[in-house]
Amino acid sequence: MSAGDDSTPAARLALLQAEYLRPRKGAAPERTATNQPPSAPIRLGVYDHLEACISEVVADARAAKAPEPTPRPRQLDGLYGWYIEQTAHLDAGRRQARDSVIYRQGLEHAVLMGDTSVIRPHPCPACATWGLFWSKEMQAIVCANRHCVDEDGLSTRWTFADIADAHIRRQVRAVRRAT
Ligand SMILES: [Zn+2]
Repeated sequence: MSAGDDSTPAARLALLQAEYLRPRKGAAPERTATNQPPSAPIRLGVYDHLEACISEVVADARAAKAPEPTPRPRQLDGLYGWYIEQTAHLDAGRRQARDSVIYRQGLEHAVLMGDTSVIRPHPCPACATWGLFWSKEMQAIVCANRHCVDEDGLSTRWTFADIADAHIRRQVRAVRRAT
């Protein structure tokens, strides 16, 4: 992951804050924050998403009880780097869980910004085919394979966490094979 790569979770997080938090001109404001003048509306979905992501990372980093804890960076693009530092002393399983949180948030940031193409490069955890897509109606990641269905005959669906966990597990296996 290079610093100039705008597809990293950190870059997407910063982009969401910088470009997507305020509605475009002419868009109906969904919410006016109480601590801001009424002329500065922010988009509820993005705002809540950012707050939830930051809270999750900060709570998990604090729970890790780093030997030398540092305060979280003010700039959002430093949040995940700080999270990794604060959890570097944890065992492999917990570091893997942390990596999954970061990866999951990265997928969520992208889909929230309308980039649903980030889903397709992941194989379906059930059938291993490459037809996963984000369904806005179902608010879920759905498998396009018509043979990949649940007991009720409905398409298999996944959460961002399912896809992130599977991705990080594959990554860990790949690293193990390479060493
Ligand atoms: Zn499937």
